[in-house]
Parts: sequence; C-alpha cells; structure tokens
Amino acid sequence: MNIHRRSRSHECRNFILRMTNFSELGLPPDVLSAVEATGYGKPTPIQEQAIPRALEGRDIIGIAQTGTGKTASFTLPIISMLSQGRARARLPRSVVLAPTRELAAQVAESFKLHSSNTRLSLALLIGGVSFKEQLALIDTGVDVLVATPGRLLDHFGRGRLLLSGVQIMVVDEADRMLDMGFIPDIEKIFKLTPFTRQTLFFSATMAPEIEKITSEFLSNPVRVEVTPPATTVEKISHVVKRFAPTRKSSATKEKRAVLRAILAEVDNDVENAIIFCNRKNDVNILLNSMTKHGIDCGAIHGDLDQSVRTDTLGKFRKGLIRYLIASDVAARGLDIPRVSHVFNFDVPTRAEDYVHRTGRTGRAGRSGIAITIATRADSKPVGAIEGLVGFELPIENMENPVDQPAKSKSGGRSEIRRKSRTNASETKSPGDDAVVGRDSAKRRTSRRSVAKLEQADEEVIVGMGSHVPAFLTRSLHS
Ligand code: AMP
Repeated sequence: MNIHRRSRSHECRNFILRMTNFSELGLPPDVLSAVEATGYGKPTPIQEQAIPRALEGRDIIGIAQTGTGKTASFTLPIISMLSQGRARARLPRSVVLAPTRELAAQVAESFKLHSSNTRLSLALLIGGVSFKEQLALIDTGVDVLVATPGRLLDHFGRGRLLLSGVQIMVVDEADRMLDMGFIPDIEKIFKLTPFTRQTLFFSATMAPEIEKITSEFLSNPVRVEVTPPATTVEKISHVVKRFAPTRKSSATKEKRAVLRAILAEVDNDVENAIIFCNRKNDVNILLNSMTKHGIDCGAIHGDLDQSVRTDTLGKFRKGLIRYLIASDVAARGLDIPRVSHVFNFDVPTRAEDYVHRTGRTGRAGRSGIAITIATRADSKPVGAIEGLVGFELPIENMENPVDQPAKSKSGGRSEIRRKSRTNASETKSPGDDAVVGRDSAKRRTSRRSVAKLEQADEEVIVGMGSHVPAFLTRSLHS
C-alpha cells in the first residue's frame, strides 16, 4: 500500500516507505527479470501509477519531468505489450517521439536495457548520424521506433516508413517540443497514426497548447501527476551571486570574471558542474574564455555537430571534463548523474528553465549547489523564479573582480550577506499539492524580489567590514 504524500518535506521518507514492488505492477516475468538486473529497487511514483494503467491499454497524460523515472514508466509497459506479435516491413508497431537527439538516444538505451530478454527490435531515427543500419532495420520491420519529430516526418515523406501500423505512440517532453516549435509536427504525426492507437503523453508542464493536443488526440486519458523529484528542491542549496557591472557594454565580460572568481572560491567542492547560458553564442564565447584561462571544460548546444555533442557528453559522464557549458535545449532531459554544482551564467528568462537547470544537481538523494549570477537588471526574471519555486532565493553581493580601483578607494566594500537558506522543509516546489493561491503568492514574491534586488544595492555599507550590527542597518534604512 502507498503512503500518500502530504507535503514535499515528507517526500524522501515516503519514497523509502513505499511498499509497492515491480512484481505488483502487472509486468511479465521476462521484463521483471530485466528490471531486476538493472538494479532498480522499487518503482518510482510515476512508474507505480502509470505502468498498471498503461498495461490496461489506457491513454495516459503523465505530468512529470526528467529524474522521476518517467522513461521506464513507458518503456516497460511497451516492451510488455509488444512482446507478443511481430513487426512488418516499414510498419513500426510503436513510435516514441523525443524533442532532442540526446533524449531520443537515452530513451533508446532504456528500451535496450529492459528488453534484453525479449526479441523486440528497435530503431533510432535522429538527425546528425548515419541511418543506413536504421533504415535497413525499418525495412525488415521494427517494434519500437524512437525518433525526433522532424526526422520521422522526413522519412515518412520519402516513403521509407508507414505509420498506419502504430499501436502505441509516446510523446516525451511535450513542453520542450512546444518550445522548439514541434507541435505542428506532432499533430501531423498523430493524424498519420490509427485513431485506435494507445497514447502515452508526457510533459513537465501543461501549457494551453499542450492541453489542446491532449484533448484532441487522447481518448479518455488517465492523468498521472508527480511532483518534481524531491531532490530538485529539497537537497539543493540555492544562491544568487549579485554583482554590479561597471558598464553595460562590458557586463558580459565582467560576468565571465565573476564566474571565474566563483569557480576559484568553490573549487574544492566541485566534483563536476554544468554552466548554463541563455544563448548558444555565449556558450561558445564562454568555452573559449574558460579554455583560455586553463579551466577544464567542454560545451554542448544545438548548433554543434552531433558527433561533438555525443563525444563531449560522454567525456563529461566519464569525468574527463569537469565543467560542461550548455544551452537549455541541449541539456534538457539528459540523465547525467552526480552533478555537484549547477551554475547559471545567465538568469534563465523562463522560470521553468531554472527548475530544469537546477534539477541537474541534487539527484538520486545527493545534495547539490545551484549558483546563479545576476545583476540588478535581472530582478524581474529572479522574481518570476521565486514565484514559481515558492521561496526567496538568497542573495549574496559580490565584488566585481574588475572593479578594483573603486574598491581600494573606498577601503574595501563590505557586504551584508543574506542568510543562505537551505532548509528544505520551508520550501515549496512547483507541482506541490498545495497550489491554492499560488498566483497571488507569485505576484507578491515577484514584487518582493524586485524590491529586494534593488534594496540589496542600498544595503552595501562602505568600509564597515562584514559584521554590520543589525541596529545600524535598520537605522540607516529608517
Ligand atoms: P528518467 O526520469 O526516466 O530520466 O530517469 C532518471 C534516472 O532514474 C535514470 O538514470 C534511470 O535509470 C533511473 N531510474 C528509473 N527508475 C528507477 C527506479 N525504479 N529505481 C531506481 N532508479 C531508477
């Protein structure tokens, strides 16, 4: 029996207390033994809820993000359901759509891992790699076709495959598909598959465009929702490092110096880290700059050649690269274990991206650190993030490393450091059960945070050292 979660602070404990075993989900013995060989102990909440319903043949809307075990929640039932029957030439029996090549490759790995005791055939259709083998497989017949939408339609357009034999269709990371402009492709693909198909649809968030698709193409779906993994927020210490650029025109350059100063500060604690930039071009610039400064790093973004992306990611996973500089799209959905730190070189413009980025650390019960570099100009997006995550991000004022003359003139700036709150029990995650009034709370937090970032400037008391008595601070602001 399950112990239902009442609050996120109980989530980790309940994860341990959950009693359901994989053997109770209705999976056949050959799939169960493959799961056992993988070393999974108990099903995660999304697996526990989605697998039995999928095995009943129901359509599913799974609201879950990466790290929750959502991949196996569709791969395991698909393997189970397709283990009987045979694929026919150019008529895949199931299709899994993923937004990025890396995610598609990851999904294919999960299929391979869990179908080791079956004779299911699998093909991966993604851009940037050679397809000779995949096309040969499709010609002989595949049970599971994992693909990015554009590449799938490409092959359909050329008459290399037909979608009229699809019994099960999965859409993974639909929210990212929306961001990447794939929704029209998804609609096209839905229309090319039989309406009798079973659909398993996964998204971290349900934007109106996504709701529209599910209401049009899914039939009486079961909605399964899990909060983001407890580790996303509970085990992560968040801090915003705020600095004041000397000039707008040199702000990005100075930010790179700020990043190096932070990296030097936390050097001993960093096992490996992802550094996020908002733009691909800034990923390139930062890569060059850090390499020039002798920092061990690599980069991934959507414009890089697939072989470079795969190679860099492989090295990062093996620990051969310590810092991975990444754009949101390239890093989204990647399962990279043991990332000790996430750095936001840029404050993400979309608050959800903050959750996805910081969710790269603090995984699988480990703790993690999320450090965001911000200036006063970032007060609005910081406010939006606070509104979404439901708590204030602690701010630490940083000296601008290139601002040395000003420093010596004043005799050294002191900082009033905000208490870095890592106490998980006070935090609230997006997707928490208690969302009543969240919108108004969001607006309040947003306003507070704008004021807070602005006020933080005023709170720097020149020449007082870092131990400014509270009464003095109050008197200065009264
Ligand atoms: P996902 O959310 O599907 O990207 O999965 C995140 C990670 O959790 C992957 O490394 C999976 O191998 C792992 N995982 C999935 N299900 C389980 C489970 N029941 N127990 C332990 N690890 C799991």
